[in-house]
Amino acid sequence: MNRPFSIITEEQAKHYFPDGKIPSGIVVSEYIHADGEEKSMTSLAKRFVLDHGYVELLEQMGDDWTPASAARESRGQGLKGKEADTTLLKTMLQQGHTSPFEFVRFRFRVKLPIFVARQWIRHRTASVNERSMRLDSGGFEFYIPNRWNTPGGDNEVDTVTRGNLQDYYAKAVGLYESLVTSGVPREQARIVLPVAVYTQWQWSLDLHNLLHFLKLRTAPAAQAEIREYARTIMSILEERIPVIMDIWRGPRCT
Ligand SMILES: Cc1cc2nc3c(=O)[nH]c(=O)nc-3n(C[C@H](O)[C@H](O)[C@H](O)COP(=O)(O)OP(=O)(O)OC[C@H]3O[C@@H](n4cnc5c(N)ncnc54)[C@H](O)[C@@H]3O)c2cc1C
Repeated sequence: MNRPFSIITEEQAKHYFPDGKIPSGIVVSEYIHADGEEKSMTSLAKRFVLDHGYVELLEQMGDDWTPASAARESRGQGLKGKEADTTLLKTMLQQGHTSPFEFVRFRFRVKLPIFVARQWIRHRTASVNERSMRLDSGGFEFYIPNRWNTPGGDNEVDTVTRGNLQDYYAKAVGLYESLVTSGVPREQARIVLPVAVYTQWQWSLDLHNLLHFLKLRTAPAAQAEIREYARTIMSILEERIPVIMDIWRGPRCT
């Protein structure tokens, strides 16, 4: 599998590879300030979740072998080949030798309803920067589930209920807009918006803490909606760090 080992800017690409032939493993990202204007970053992976949400991997530092390389520093040694390094990864995950996994880091952009964000933000070992509803009045989107999270039975959200939810959200937006029009600041007008409204943030953390998040939030006890996000992140990691995820999905380690 061809995974990038380096992300460079368009300018760097022009400089280092003037013939336009970018070696495999190098990803050219648009995310760089051009004349003071920040362009959007080329995502390494983007998966849609729920009705309007998504998880987008913006950046990755390190790969499957980074924790083995960091750990071998203990003996002043380096990587020893796929088999030996896989065994080392397995031992470390099983024994809870966690710090080498902190050398792999990910940066995501996530769009999620606020009630999911409230659960998500309880994971304190990540860095977050959220879109501000005080500053940005972009069109609001609201979550409407396909199913209620009741066990078994016919739990589909029927058309009438779906319509009721849509009406309710439309009313909330109407009130929000009338408040803003009448001079109420956005930071207060937003108090009328339900927790189903989508927000968006960048979320960055190391692999050790990400695996902890995944362990808690893919478990059956977690709410179905956050579980969907966690499973989506897991599916991205399965492509980005297949060796580690393969070991981790075995006997679970924190
Ligand atoms: C199924 C489920 C139900 C939940 N229900 C509720 C609920 O009803 N109400 C509620 O309030 N919360 C609830 N939570 C949130 C839960 O209590 C945790 O806050 C959340 O899962 C984050 O876990 P964490 O602290 O291990 O993760 P992180 O905040 O990412 O921390 C990772 C690890 O770092 C260490 N750490 C971080 N901060 C500290 C600290 N200040 N002191 C010591 N060690 C620290 C701990 O070892 C911790 O496990 C629920 C979580 C789950 C998964």
